[in-house]
Order: sequence, then C-alpha cells, then structure tokens
Amino acid sequence: MWIFRLKGDFQSLDPWIPELFARGARGLEEREGEVLAYFGERVPLPFPGRWEEQPDEDWLTAWKRELTPVEAGRLVVRAPWHPPAEGREEVVIEPGMAFGTGHHETTRLALEALSEAVRPGMRVLDLGTGSGVLAIAAAKLGAQTVAVDIDPVAVAAARENAERNRVAIEVRKGSLEAAPGPFDLIVANLYAELHTQLATSYRERLAPGGTALLTGILVAKAGAVEAAARAAGLAKTREAQEGEWSLLAFTKG
Ligand code: SAM
Repeated sequence: MWIFRLKGDFQSLDPWIPELFARGARGLEEREGEVLAYFGERVPLPFPGRWEEQPDEDWLTAWKRELTPVEAGRLVVRAPWHPPAEGREEVVIEPGMAFGTGHHETTRLALEALSEAVRPGMRVLDLGTGSGVLAIAAAKLGAQTVAVDIDPVAVAAARENAERNRVAIEVRKGSLEAAPGPFDLIVANLYAELHTQLATSYRERLAPGGTALLTGILVAKAGAVEAAARAAGLAKTREAQEGEWSLLAFTKG
C-alpha cells in the first residue's frame, strides 16, 4: 500500500480528487492540514506531495481493529466483520472507497438527527450518499428513500451496501436534478458553500412542514448557511455540534 500525502483539505483539493481516483487512488482520508490518498502502487502524479510506503497487511489489520461500531440514537453502524448489535437498527457498511463508515463527526451528527426525525413512511432524500450510510439508516427506520451522488464509485458502493442491508433504496447518479421530490426530509452531508448555493432548491423539493438536515458545515461557516436558508424561506429548528462540525436543521413552513 502506498500513501500520497497532499497539503490541504477535501475542500481545497476538490478539483484534484477525480484525477486522484482516475490514477488509481483507492480511498482518501482527511487529516489535520493534509489529505492522504491510498494507492496499490506508486503512480506518476502531477501534484505536489509526498509518497510513503506502508506494509499492506499491517495497515489493513490495524485499520480494521480501530474501526469500531458507531452508535447514534436508535442506530448502530458496523462493518461486516463486527458481531451483530442488539437493541438498535443496524446499518452494515463495507468500508471502501466511498465516504461514510459512520466515524466522521458529520456522519454521526446526521445519524443522530435521522434517528430523532425519521418516522415510518416518510419520503427521504439523501443528497451525496457516499457509502449509502444515511440512506440505509433512514430506510431501516421505515422511510422510503432516494439517494443520489455525483460520484459513480459512491453510487456503486451505496447500491451494494443497500443490498447487504436488504433495504430497497433508489440510488441515482447525479445531484438534486435527479431527485425532484417532494420529500418530507432531505439529509445532506456536503459542505457549507454548496448548502448556501442549494438553499432555494432544498425548499423547492421539501413538502410543506418538511425538514432539511444539513451537515458537513464547519462551525465557523454555520452562520452563512443559516442566512442563506432563511433567505430561501426555511426556518432553523435545531443545531448540533461535534468538534469543529455543525449540523443545522431547517423546516419549510
Ligand atoms: N452521506 C455520506 C455520509 O454522511 O457519510 C457521505 C458524505 S460525503 C462527505 C459527500 C458525498 O457527496 C460524496 O460522496 C460526494 O461524491 C457527494 N457530492 C459532492 N457534491 C455533490 C453534489 N453536488 N451532488 C450530489 N452529491 C455530491
């Protein structure tokens, strides 16, 4: 296993991410001030960064050991090799190339919020589904769920994980244009600037009284998202924080 370390974060390196995957990256991880791209072999890359080799087996064993199940309200997210959990709705995710094992603060915040908000029969949209973790969680809580992602790797992963969890989720490649709605609940773990741009589209796709659960928002940027949502006619009903991350909930009156 080879790791290529780039300075920056997912947001600043966003334009390079498709190229990293096109050149064989198997996964990306954000650490303090840098992004780690995992490769099976060293490949030529047109970006400034540093290569590091890690023995395959040690890396995989250590990573699997550290990956403990994540509990959030009525839900638990675990990997296929963890023993079944009791007393909670289980979401089994094969950790892979798509974002969403439940370990990131933003995913946990979204899982907690879904656990509180989802009722059987609700129409739910998971925008930017990644591994499908949030869509599967909503389906396990009884929602009719549509999941979209612009990344074909995520679409494939979400479909596989939905099958693994035996839930029927409609997974579509694309963004909001692929999900006209209306929805009773939209959950989106993206980033502040994108939420700001999409605020009006969220409102258009929500049924009256519907809820938008928005995360992937750095605490410092929560004010800008709230202002955009308010301008679009959405009212804030809830705010939660974990570390440097926020989740904001809005309703359409
Ligand atoms: N929902 C998962 C979770 O909470 O763990 C994954 C969230 S991950 C931070 C964001 C996902 O959104 C990625 O899979 C990315 O491909 C997707 N994405 C980014 N921009 C998007 C857009 N404009 N429309 C749809 N999906 C998008």
